[in-house]
Amino acid sequence: MDSDVFCVLCGGPFALEQHIYNINPDRSQFQWLYQVQLLGTVSALRNLRMTSANESHTNLCENEETFLSETIGWKIGDADFFQLGLAIYQVLTEDEAGDAIFPLHQACIEIACRVIDVHAMEENEALDSACSALYRMLQDHLHAEPHVTGTKHDILGLKSTCDSTARSVLAIDNLGWWSGSYEKYFTDPLHILHLTPTIFSMLQSLPQNCTCPSVIPISTSRFQGLQGLPSELLERITDLLPPHLIMSLRQSSRTLAQKIPLDDRFWRRRLCDGSLLRYVWDIDERQVKQLLRNTTGGRGGGWSNLVRNLQLEVAYITDQHSGGSEDFIVGLWNRRRIWRIIEDAYTQPHWLKYRVPIHPKIENQNTILVFNYGKISAIGCFIVAMVLAAAWDSRAQES
Ligand SMILES: [Zn+2]
Repeated sequence: MDSDVFCVLCGGPFALEQHIYNINPDRSQFQWLYQVQLLGTVSALRNLRMTSANESHTNLCENEETFLSETIGWKIGDADFFQLGLAIYQVLTEDEAGDAIFPLHQACIEIACRVIDVHAMEENEALDSACSALYRMLQDHLHAEPHVTGTKHDILGLKSTCDSTARSVLAIDNLGWWSGSYEKYFTDPLHILHLTPTIFSMLQSLPQNCTCPSVIPISTSRFQGLQGLPSELLERITDLLPPHLIMSLRQSSRTLAQKIPLDDRFWRRRLCDGSLLRYVWDIDERQVKQLLRNTTGGRGGGWSNLVRNLQLEVAYITDQHSGGSEDFIVGLWNRRRIWRIIEDAYTQPHWLKYRVPIHPKIENQNTILVFNYGKISAIGCFIVAMVLAAAWDSRAQES
């Protein structure tokens, strides 16, 4: 790929040339590469316009200063000029204020906004708009990265390798790996074909977990605090906690480990709600349950094995990809790759200083904790749990 114009989030092109890489550019799994959006500031849009007509465009970003265009296309030969409406804009060039316009795949923007939303939620950060935070991150990396010959526009280090795997197709070009391994970098990372039915098939083929009772009855009378809460109440509380905090809670006490079991319900719910493997957010749990009901002698008890297998298959796919049914795993592999690139960029030290923690505010005397965007944080859950535990203890003492 000779062009210096590529998506800085995934390293992919915005169009595929015929007869290059021995792949068919018309395959449906490659069409996401042609769906482009411009991300910049409103002022950069004014300063980097190459045509004279002052044309207004629809801004899809909720932040007034950041601009996100509607979906557009790009043709090989347009170089770093993108047409939006009748106007032409130069991309990946800074204006006098240091702002720029980034052409990005629509799919990559959606994945990036999810990464940013997840981190903001987990770390209790103020976030006015994920789209705006994405622009600020890219602008910061654009300023931070040294512009060395041969690495033009590669602001997230996509021409490098990670765990012996090329981070993007740019690194393959650099290393001269012409083995057919590039195709997986071009597979649609957003619309994973047959995701839920394939998950169901995988579940059916795996060994079942043991059918132990999900909750082991333990006398609660001799325990206080969280350990003294009935299992049903603990279950309600842990339903609100992210998986890593549930693991920490279980490790803190043998009693809690017994009262909070990691049973099939835990693995199924956490995989389907996207909290276990963050890059898998679109399994339809209701459809999985329906498929299980419709299958005679259905096997649905191997969810922990399914999570383990899914992780392994997505992490270690072969370089030779022939298409067809493999698109499911290859699409997830590509999604995970892009997720990790964005996550790495978003958590780099020089960018962290721009991420602002927020503080919970108490809305009324009933200590209802309300966090920004209405998201209940893990700290909030713990506080609620402690209040419930104290109330339970005092009720036990009274009786
Ligand atoms: Zn991209």
